[in-house]
Amino acid sequence: KNLIDINKVRDSFPFFEKYKNLIYFDNAATSQRPKCVIDAMNEYDFFHNANPYRGIYDLSVDATERYENARKKVATFIGATKASEIIFTRNTTESINLLSHSLGEICINEGDEIIISIAEHHSNMLPWRTLAKRKNATIKYLECTDEGEFLLDDYKNLLSEKTKIIALTGMSNVFGRVTDIKKFATLAHEHGAYFVLDAAQSALHTINDVKANDIDFMCFSGHKMLGPMGIGVLYGREEILDRMPPFLYGGEMIEYVSREDVSFAELPNKFEAGTVNVSGVVGLAKAIEYIKDLGQEHIIEAEKNLSDYAFAEIMKVPHIQIIGGKKADEHRGIISFSIDDVHSHDVAAICASEGIAIRAGHHCAAPLHQHLGLNSSNRISLMFYNTREEVDRCMEVLARVRRLMGYND
Ligand code: PMP
Repeated sequence: KNLIDINKVRDSFPFFEKYKNLIYFDNAATSQRPKCVIDAMNEYDFFHNANPYRGIYDLSVDATERYENARKKVATFIGATKASEIIFTRNTTESINLLSHSLGEICINEGDEIIISIAEHHSNMLPWRTLAKRKNATIKYLECTDEGEFLLDDYKNLLSEKTKIIALTGMSNVFGRVTDIKKFATLAHEHGAYFVLDAAQSALHTINDVKANDIDFMCFSGHKMLGPMGIGVLYGREEILDRMPPFLYGGEMIEYVSREDVSFAELPNKFEAGTVNVSGVVGLAKAIEYIKDLGQEHIIEAEKNLSDYAFAEIMKVPHIQIIGGKKADEHRGIISFSIDDVHSHDVAAICASEGIAIRAGHHCAAPLHQHLGLNSSNRISLMFYNTREEVDRCMEVLARVRRLMGYND
């Protein structure tokens, strides 16, 4: 039973009012935004805009308060104890780049090892590879099974006293499989290494608790969790953030500057150089409020029901090869697949001509596709605001693709 009123939910997204017949199944790329999020940002932009921290006039003080209140909301959302452990960035990619620079600076030396998985998005792969190159360190790949699972035994075999950082996805954007993060994080700590979570996909679709999961760093993007583009989050444990050098240098990240000397601001400002994105942060805080009002566990439950349904239906379509696990539970709202003998771009183009937005390509996980022996794939990714009727329509089109391409079965 769904605890979410789907009609009420659909009504709260202006996007669905405009595009009544469009089926939006590319939610892993970016989610749509509820009206309250857009309204909150507009209200800020219309009536409250000022540069926070700089002014002592009311508007600037007010902008600072709105920005800092949003930071507190984000901290609560992920179970961080202190708001100052929340750094606002542009997106997951920037959060990981910040870490690869500033965390890399304090803990990576020649010969050290960084573990990432082969299933990582390029955003959680290339920054670490660049760091390794810069420091003459080594990247070790944690493989995954054909079902998209990371095996603890493989992981244990990679861990050593040389391991300094492990960066792993909480949910693969290709498989939609949820990682048992705590086990990986705890083992990382037993080896004295830091654990970084790429939560771009998992931030909305799993319950976050950085303390309970024993995570040192968590990176995610507002735009994949009903918030705006252009705002991302880096959570870090205070004790480590304090020891890390800044990533970007400039305004409002200093304590004192003279001709020769500089000392840096306390957390979180040390990592937020330059004018910040207040309306983006206000939008993200509103998205969190919306999620809390619906109940994140209700959202997850609704998505699981829809995902299980979609998985059962897609398994009935002839000539479809599912990528990853063959059990519904191994896909949380994300199902990647290919259709025999048809290029993924043709599949997506046929869907597009029927008003269905799905993905084609390597989904920024090219090494994973190589690992699986694939050039590309298609992907449908669902949200709690999608419906079974939409799934049915999509499946009906997928079942017709091969005939449209000239095959007679
Ligand atoms: N990691 C994963 C698992 C992702 O799915 C994505 C976005 N597709 C990213 C990182 C990067 O997110 P962003 O583009 O918002 O920086």
